[in-house]
Amino acid sequence: MQIVLATSNKGKVREIKAMCEDFDVVAFSEIITPFEIVEDAPTFKGNALLKAQAVYKALDDEDAIVLSDDSGISVDVLDGAPGIFSARYAGAEATDKDNLYKLMEGVEQKGLKSSPAHYTAAIAIVTKEGEQVVHGWMYGDVITTPRGENGFGYDPCFVPEGLDKTLGELDDEIKKGLSHRSKALYLAKLVLGTIKKGREHSR
Ligand code: IMP
Repeated sequence: MQIVLATSNKGKVREIKAMCEDFDVVAFSEIITPFEIVEDAPTFKGNALLKAQAVYKALDDEDAIVLSDDSGISVDVLDGAPGIFSARYAGAEATDKDNLYKLMEGVEQKGLKSSPAHYTAAIAIVTKEGEQVVHGWMYGDVITTPRGENGFGYDPCFVPEGLDKTLGELDDEIKKGLSHRSKALYLAKLVLGTIKKGREHSR
């Protein structure tokens, strides 16, 4: 069963492919000309749905199964920022590094070296059977000095609860066992399994 990912974010594509080995996972940009999706909903859930709906429509294939991930980090001392604006925290054209440094500077400007924070992932699945959204969270602290090169985005400044290394320092396999995305994907795979069974029975 093919799953089309409504994202071109390389970090997300890599992680989702690694966590969905039982499915044939492709990024939408591998099968149709990529296009920009305006993410103007006020929640992770709303933006995940917008992305999956846009790609489902563009594929023009009734049987397509589209999965999207809208995710971000919320920092307590920044009143929950950047949240849904995580990808563009330092501006529309910002790189992951620009966003990472803006976040760490924000914490530093509060006179702190760390703050509690959490990641959220909303995963939407859009198919002819309907639309579903599931969530996952990962709690920890952000620090003001980046460490490690693994992962992507804000991972070099995020220390998961109970650990003393950043996600940038930890192996992908360890992140896989802890992350907001893997928790949401666990639920998403239950939904995908139900869709698969339903389709096999209606043949
Ligand atoms: P989206 O593509 O609009 O969902 O943007 C998600 C943004 O949140 C990414 O560009 C990253 O900056 C950040 N983000 C989400 N998940 C992670 C993660 O697992 N590690 C690091 N950064 C993440």
